[in-house]
Amino acid sequence: YRQGDPSEVTVSTPNGAITFGEQHPLVVVAGPCSVENEEMIVETARRVKAAGAQFLRGGAYKPRTSPYAFQGHGESALGLLAKAREVTGLGIITELMDAADLEPLAEIADIIQIGARNMQNFSLLKKVGAQGKPILLKRGMAATIEDWLMAAEYILAAGNSNVILCERGIRTFDSKYTRNTLDLSCIPVLRSLTHLPIMIDPSHGTGKWEYVPSMAAASIAAGTDSLMIEVHPDPKKAMSDGPQSLTPERFDQLMRELSVVGKAM
Ligand code: PEP
Ligand code: MN
Repeated sequence: YRQGDPSEVTVSTPNGAITFGEQHPLVVVAGPCSVENEEMIVETARRVKAAGAQFLRGGAYKPRTSPYAFQGHGESALGLLAKAREVTGLGIITELMDAADLEPLAEIADIIQIGARNMQNFSLLKKVGAQGKPILLKRGMAATIEDWLMAAEYILAAGNSNVILCERGIRTFDSKYTRNTLDLSCIPVLRSLTHLPIMIDPSHGTGKWEYVPSMAAASIAAGTDSLMIEVHPDPKKAMSDGPQSLTPERFDQLMRELSVVGKAM
């Protein structure tokens, strides 16, 4: 079992230093699944910032199930994220899939996301462990908590102590109603096993925007340190994950509701 104090991950953003950790206010990460164009990413960044988010998350490289689905705009999307950072001062989080993209991605990202499908890509974990940017490590869709903690250990062992663990739902037998089963019991379990900060992603966790607010509130009640929420200016037209994305209006409403739930924001 865990010994000692919880660790903290502090990230400097143009708007100031933000700390993820048990003894700190809730950190909210929001944004679209994919960066689609300059107008939509800057608009989303402005709206989520106004609602109180500290980080903008958007994908440039997307791990899609089908090779024929939209794969993300790649390097050009990194430039658009940099633009959104410049305009709003929000910290940027984006996913790295291929070690070959590490350098340009690390130049604009304040936190590098390793997605569920790469949670056990050990050579990728070693590479992000050997560089300085903090890592957001999503739980693999069929990973046990031990698998997940060992994956985090690869990054820590390579020398990078700034790791945040993100639960995003595990494979479910009942995919008729939800995309995944969001494992909120991981929060107290992780608290007992690890000092690392925790993030919950109810958007991928449920796959339906209607269920995101209640699961976000439940995550706070269970003690999460941070949340990741997908937000798109026009979810019906989204190039990926529209059904689970909140409109900026709904996100704003959610942020107002969450401010009364528990952990200070
Ligand atoms: C995402 O964050 O958009 C994503 C692809 O998430 P995951 O790796 O959890 O499926
Ligand atoms: Mn997504």
